[in-house]
Amino acid sequence: MQANNWHERAAALDIDGRAFINGQRVWAVSEQTFDNHSPIDGRLLTKVARGDAADIDAAVVAARAAFDDRRWAGKSPAQRKRTLIKFADLVLKNTAELALLETLDMGKPIKYSQSVDVPSCANCIRWYGEAIDKIYDEIAPTNDSSLALITREPVGVVGAIVPWNYPLIMTAWKIAPALAAGNSVVLKPSEKSPLSALKLAEIALEAGIPAGVFNVVPGYGHEAGAALALHMDVDCIAFTGSTPVGKKIMQMAGESNLKRAWTELGGKSANIVCADCPDLDAAVKAAIGSIYFNQGESCNAPSRLFVEESIKEAFLEKAMAMMPRFQPGDPLDEDTVMGAIVDAAQMKTVMGYIEAGKAEGAKLLSGGEAARLDTGGFYITPTLFDQVDSTMRIAREEIFGPVLSVLGFTDIKEAIRQANSTPYGLQAAVWTRDMTKAIQTARALRAGTVHVNQYDNDDITVPFGGVKQSGNGRDKSLHAIDKYTELKTTWIQIG
Ligand code: NAD
Repeated sequence: MQANNWHERAAALDIDGRAFINGQRVWAVSEQTFDNHSPIDGRLLTKVARGDAADIDAAVVAARAAFDDRRWAGKSPAQRKRTLIKFADLVLKNTAELALLETLDMGKPIKYSQSVDVPSCANCIRWYGEAIDKIYDEIAPTNDSSLALITREPVGVVGAIVPWNYPLIMTAWKIAPALAAGNSVVLKPSEKSPLSALKLAEIALEAGIPAGVFNVVPGYGHEAGAALALHMDVDCIAFTGSTPVGKKIMQMAGESNLKRAWTELGGKSANIVCADCPDLDAAVKAAIGSIYFNQGESCNAPSRLFVEESIKEAFLEKAMAMMPRFQPGDPLDEDTVMGAIVDAAQMKTVMGYIEAGKAEGAKLLSGGEAARLDTGGFYITPTLFDQVDSTMRIAREEIFGPVLSVLGFTDIKEAIRQANSTPYGLQAAVWTRDMTKAIQTARALRAGTVHVNQYDNDDITVPFGGVKQSGNGRDKSLHAIDKYTELKTTWIQIG
């Protein structure tokens, strides 16, 4: 891949905004579209099919037909494995186009789209492909005269709704285990970043995933998303997004056909750095690198930093020295590490929180400004607030932008109490040399994942998800397959 010609490639890219239903690119039944602008500079990328209930229904009908005639579910796990591995290979072969779509669509640096998002998507698809023919069913230890088989079956038609911050990765986390298990899928990408998922569906077909098995319907949440969550012939809805919408998804699942509903929701993760932290430089690097990665638009961003008072000054001095590296730049420039905020609405939300932080008395140490205004895009300088307390909005609410709130502490018990004081419970971290303190703190922190002396480690083999209002599901790892399979019991009389 040639470096430094991303602008030329972007200009030459032929972007297709049509839905992908039953193996075909189609416009919405209503013929409605919406404009898709890039947050990089506001350019119009393409018109996108504005799917609604009619398009969701067409996709569900196609998915159901594909499931019922077993064109995919009826293949052996080894056959599905081979197809998924081919799918992963083709994703990698299309790295340049997928990375470009991702960057143009939601503003993340091309550096990461090509080195993180695309490979991680491919790895996820490959991993579930490789895993699926290694899972055995069970025979229960009942009695001599009968056999009780416990088998896993695909749930049927899976609806997946994903957000805009990691469009390819979030899509892969849903579709890979669902497809590996033999389901058909209807995916509703975010209206803010639908392009890479549409391309992914084309690649899946090319890899040999039969038409109708993986469908993508772009559209707005209250139209296409709600129609999917309410559909009477969808067996399971897997949702990643905000906590308020996650609550609606659970309601819609309940008021329709009681479909299984899995939610992966927001976060306000606490990162606790004790004075006996084994490596202060590593702690600063992880804290700063993780909050500003992806413009702070990560569900697990460690947005609340608790630092023991005796080391806070030294910590902040080192943190301030790192800020220049995270100044926003052109996302199509391979040196840029901080790109554009996804759109004007998100920019306004983040700037609103920055104003709230100032108004509530937090001390703005760095950033807090809109940047690169001449581009027509949406950029915010990396923002660091000190002297935050847990009652402030910037310490309680998910900002989903490049804003770090620093809170001092003197007593670890009080830090844990405050860390647990939000409705969220996605991730947390503690930095200490004292292993007893580390384990006690990790146990006390109410979060789906706790890091010790690191932040943001990640592997497809480990579950990712939250507790409390951060959701009820787990993506990644073999556990994710449980979400897309039913256990069936078959009693056989043999005596
Ligand atoms: P969002 O909840 O606004 O939208 C997510 C998806 O839901 C989009 O596709 C949207 O169109 C759809 N949607 C919106 N309203 C809907 C409705 N009424 N019915 C059905 N679907 C609807 O979230 P977002 O702004 O796209 O993403 C940011 C949020 O996602 C943050 O809260 C972030 O923490 C969370 N997130 C969580 C994880 C995780 O694994 N826990 C990962 C990434 C992002």
